[in-house]
Amino acid sequence: MNKVQNARRVVIKVGTSTLCYKTGNLNLRRVRKLIEVMSDLKNEGHDIIFVTSGAIGIGVGRAGLSKRPTDIPTKQACAAIGQCELMNIYDREFSKFNHTVAQLLVTRDVVSNKTRHENAFNTLHRLLEMNIVPIINANDTVSIDQLDFDENDTLSAVMAQLCEADLLVILTDVDGLYDMNPSDPNAKHIPLVTKITDDLINSTKQKGSELASGGMITKLEAAMIAGETGIPTVIINGDDPENLYRIFDGTAKCTIFDLN
Ligand code: GLU
Repeated sequence: MNKVQNARRVVIKVGTSTLCYKTGNLNLRRVRKLIEVMSDLKNEGHDIIFVTSGAIGIGVGRAGLSKRPTDIPTKQACAAIGQCELMNIYDREFSKFNHTVAQLLVTRDVVSNKTRHENAFNTLHRLLEMNIVPIINANDTVSIDQLDFDENDTLSAVMAQLCEADLLVILTDVDGLYDMNPSDPNAKHIPLVTKITDDLINSTKQKGSELASGGMITKLEAAMIAGETGIPTVIINGDDPENLYRIFDGTAKCTIFDLN
């Protein structure tokens, strides 16, 4: 998969299940490793755009709530709290490797609103020219309903389009797509998808291969969005951040979506 291995500009999306323990607290060992690997890939010559979830999850812990809230204002408050902690650690860890980060909080109208699209495009491209690592999350505080980016899989695909990326990588808690629920011993791993058919979508829904928070269906949607402009998507297990290296040396166990 030369297109994948030769990708220079890469959007890397990391979900809450990769960033946090089940307690909701940050998995510091994994986050540190992840940032070390992303920094190293940047040193190697890749542009790295980091799409992060985890703000709500971490905010829940910080606010001392016993469980994830279901009402939108409390979710938004938690996102505002957790986002600070996320950026604090990302800033600190990337700095150790001499990389500078920038925070971008976006809403879905970066796609539909021409002026906002232009502004987001310009900011993102200028940051990349300045050799900065853009770190992106949904702007949960001003998202007034759940029709906005309430999951970051499709957000990462939209960002991949916006920054004209060569590759979208979604780190999750499974090795990619399986033909049935991956906890089933008969489940077969699917290394390459060239077409997302209705059958594939339905089987993903029905067989519930959804160990990750956004589920596999939003990852297929992300792959379709990225694929619209010819960007391949890789879904890979984020438990070991060194898997990112394996994408580029061609040894990764993952699912590649190349929809041309
Ligand atoms: N924007 C949400 C957060 O930072 C993440 C949504 C998702 O889990 O994809 O908590």
